[in-house]
Amino acid sequence: MRAMVLTTPGIPLELQELPMPKAGPGQVLIKVDACAVCRTDLHVVDGELQEPKLPLIPGHEIVGSVVEIGPGVDNSLLGTRVGVPWLGYTCGRCRYCLSNRENLCDHALFTGYQIDGGYAEYTVADHRFCFPLPAGYPDVQAAPLLCAGLIGYRSLVMAFTSPDLLSETAGRLGIYGFGAAAHIVAQVARHRGIRIFAITRAGDSKAQQFARSLGAEWAGGADETPPVPLDAAIIFAPAGELVPAALRALAKGGVLVCGGIHMSDIPAFPYDILWGERIVRSVANLTRRDGTEFLALAPQIPVKTQVHLYPLEDANRALADLREGRLEGAAVLTTTPDGISRKRK
Ligand SMILES: [Zn+2]
Ligand SMILES: [Zn+2]
Repeated sequence: MRAMVLTTPGIPLELQELPMPKAGPGQVLIKVDACAVCRTDLHVVDGELQEPKLPLIPGHEIVGSVVEIGPGVDNSLLGTRVGVPWLGYTCGRCRYCLSNRENLCDHALFTGYQIDGGYAEYTVADHRFCFPLPAGYPDVQAAPLLCAGLIGYRSLVMAFTSPDLLSETAGRLGIYGFGAAAHIVAQVARHRGIRIFAITRAGDSKAQQFARSLGAEWAGGADETPPVPLDAAIIFAPAGELVPAALRALAKGGVLVCGGIHMSDIPAFPYDILWGERIVRSVANLTRRDGTEFLALAPQIPVKTQVHLYPLEDANRALADLREGRLEGAAVLTTTPDGISRKRK
């Protein structure tokens, strides 16, 4: 099979012809139809995340169909369409797993990081960590739901843990970095009646226009301040200097969620801007419950994903476009020429 392989962090992925993987006990073999490209993939490829297995096939927003089942897997999964997310394995025994926090499992393994992922024609996955996908979504449109969507959803839930923040007088959300996750979370937030304020790179009028098209009532650059104090903010951009900036934009009692897996150092800031019961927290990974909840919710809203398609062997170009902020929405790799032609129609 063809696969895009990371041999050494810091250099481009290499197109390789590899033997077909086999489904082991508890696993399924999946023919990959689409795999979205996540900012986390960039952090892995660029060497900012330190624990990848090498060589590695990246990719953790996988949509495909089950073509073979390993020992111990129910026959009924054969032929079904599934989604494979970032969370690829948890131990089920540690104190985090036993308290409904499997996203923090001490022994977790992640797809496209410690387990080969979806930048390939085939992949294997633990069937317990595969999701059935809502029927209305074509493969390429469903792929970004699996991380951009899931992490965005978890971040939004964490940002509004207090129901008081969803009252008529509160409910203002700042979104810092308007990429794939933001474009999905904005739709979920609007659906809940939350007002959106989008903060992009300074001068990025295209991203600001994109944010407004998804319901942001204000969009500006990181050099500007949102016009009203925010009740919550989510930072998707990997820039630590946004933490004090977002804290300064938060109202008292506001929650700031850092949604990315990697961020540059956060500069020192005065206690003043945290005072007033403001909260700063990160969101790490996902639980399977997040996945089930979000994948049931998405078609009800309905969340629409904007995708840019690339053939599998153009993964490096997709990563470069993401790195340089050259696309609105999500980049998606597809293994079928069909996926590309559907887009061009
Ligand atoms: Zn565990
Ligand atoms: Zn991701």
